[in-house]
Amino acid sequence: MKSRKPILAGNWKMNLGPAEAGLYFQQLETLLSNDPTRSLDSERVIFPPAYNLGSEIQWVAGKCQVQLGAQNIHWESTGAFTAELSAKALKDLGLNWALVGHSERRQLFGETNQTAGKRLLKGLSSGLRVLFCMGETLGERESGRMETVWAEQLTSYVEALAKHVASDQANDFSSRHAPVAYEPVWAIGTGKTATTEQAEEAHRWIRNWLSEKLGATFAEALPVLYGGSVTPDNAAALLKQPNIDGVLVGGASLKPESFAKILLA
Ligand code: PEP
Repeated sequence: MKSRKPILAGNWKMNLGPAEAGLYFQQLETLLSNDPTRSLDSERVIFPPAYNLGSEIQWVAGKCQVQLGAQNIHWESTGAFTAELSAKALKDLGLNWALVGHSERRQLFGETNQTAGKRLLKGLSSGLRVLFCMGETLGERESGRMETVWAEQLTSYVEALAKHVASDQANDFSSRHAPVAYEPVWAIGTGKTATTEQAEEAHRWIRNWLSEKLGATFAEALPVLYGGSVTPDNAAALLKQPNIDGVLVGGASLKPESFAKILLA
């Protein structure tokens, strides 16, 4: 029996506008209303585009026990950073979550381990919980560089956490404030899910590596989510694995019907 409460998250990327988002949560509420008890077993988060983060959509999402989070945050609180989002302002808006280091940011927009780490640190020091994404490309897996890549990505995570813990903003910090999402790039949006064995093996490796760097207590309590073509058909098997503590769902989170099935998996 796993002691870590699962986190079931959806990443809408640049999909669904405010009117669609409102309707989505109304439909999700209806779909979940037959099974109100399950919500207590997990935490639910949706990362919609930024125009869906206001209080009205927070309110309709809240009726389904879904929290909202930003898909990215900048490492400064304010300044001349066109199109970036301030973690502090998001917190002031009533939000508690952000995502950093998503592979689409890394591959399409030049995000690096260093910038992902800086964003993580800023989110934590602004009082947000930050889901840190990592994972190898197919080339990295096939050339046997997978573990080196994971270690490089997690080094930026560990360095950000060390700075946060050494600061005076870290009062009640725990590993639940900085969950990790393992998302093999070759499985994102491709319909190709990692097998449950491949995913479990990666998650075990991540937990062991972090246990060496940050201690067993931290690593044992850390939620490690899997992402990459999760669907209602494969979610339950993935979530049964001992080191998989949740899912980050892209495509299948865009329809309330399929996301509801994953939430109830
Ligand atoms: C994602 O974008 O984080 C993701 C996992 O997408 P998908 O579920 O569509 O593969």
